[in-house]
Amino acid sequence: MEADHDNTAPTATSADVVIVGGGPAGLTAAIYLARFRRSVVLIDANQSRLSKIPQSHNYPGFVDGIAGSTLLEALRTQLRQYPVRSVVATAQRVQHDPDGFAVHWKGGSARGKCLLLATGATDIPPAMPHVLEALRAGALRYCPVCDAYEVIDRAVGVYADGAHGVGEAIYLRHFTADLVLFMEGGAGVLSVEERLRLGRAGIVCPEEPVRSIRHWNGQVTVVHGERETRRDALYCALGLDVHAQFARALGATTDDSGYVVVDAHHASDVDGLYAIGDVAQGLNQIAVAAGGAAIAASTIHRRLGAQA
Ligand SMILES: Cc1cc2nc3c(=O)[nH]c(=O)nc-3n(C[C@H](O)[C@H](O)[C@H](O)COP(=O)(O)OP(=O)(O)OC[C@H]3O[C@@H](n4cnc5c(N)ncnc54)[C@H](O)[C@@H]3O)c2cc1C
Repeated sequence: MEADHDNTAPTATSADVVIVGGGPAGLTAAIYLARFRRSVVLIDANQSRLSKIPQSHNYPGFVDGIAGSTLLEALRTQLRQYPVRSVVATAQRVQHDPDGFAVHWKGGSARGKCLLLATGATDIPPAMPHVLEALRAGALRYCPVCDAYEVIDRAVGVYADGAHGVGEAIYLRHFTADLVLFMEGGAGVLSVEERLRLGRAGIVCPEEPVRSIRHWNGQVTVVHGERETRRDALYCALGLDVHAQFARALGATTDDSGYVVVDAHHASDVDGLYAIGDVAQGLNQIAVAAGGAAIAASTIHRRLGAQA
């Protein structure tokens, strides 16, 4: 449990807005809404993807980049200036009735006129020891949009379990020519056309299935069949588990990838239910999470109207 979170929320609380999720999306929305003089309850299970970023170099305003944990702490510190009730807990159930929404966690619940989901998504990790250490070293990576710039001209691999790995490898080809696509089941799982595309791009794709992956000294070694290949960075493309279960339970539409479908104001198709950040349709980026939070918070503030 984080000592900085107020975990003493009474068992039932009423607020203008209940936010589930305290990553950059939820925290930014809470700051905006508090500054709009709205009452807010923020429930967070403290598993932000931000905490896994060793150093982000594409979030604007930080000349030398910023560690995800430092940014998270700064957002939490900023939020503590305002009377927002923060609860460290996993929300377990949500309900919707004509008066709004109720969110329940072990030992408590909160009601809100609006519900803002900022529950994010979780990367599906590769089966390898010491995943966190490999991430911290930049040897294992998840997000070419975030950090392909950092691996320009390096020896790079992509590890995938389906044809989407071809797209990710070709995306990375813009940054390096030394590229290997490791298919979990070997190159044979790809179609002739997909293999031709890789060949045209000069991307190697070993025939053998992947047997093991390990991190050593800032590099990753992939064992495939009887051979092994060492890479400076391995992008894992096994997909994301999008935390959209509450949206679905409330009847909101999700897309084929599992993201909550939202409009330009981050409203879902359930009245009063909003979604921002990695759980909502769009680019999975800190800047997008913060931007979506600003849009949703402003929309919710207008919707709630002026205080009499
Ligand atoms: C290794 C790595 C590197 C990355 N690098 C970059 C980068 O350089 N630049 C960039 O822009 N992006 C980067 N990203 C992506 C970035 O971290 C995410 O886009 C961003 O964190 C999304 O913010 P979010 O608030 O939507 O979700 P998150 O930060 O994941 O926060 C969601 C929060 O909701 C909580 N939650 C979920 N379900 C519940 C529940 N039922 N009850 C209570 N709380 C719940 C979680 O515990 C978590 O704290 C990277 C991601 C990873 C993993």
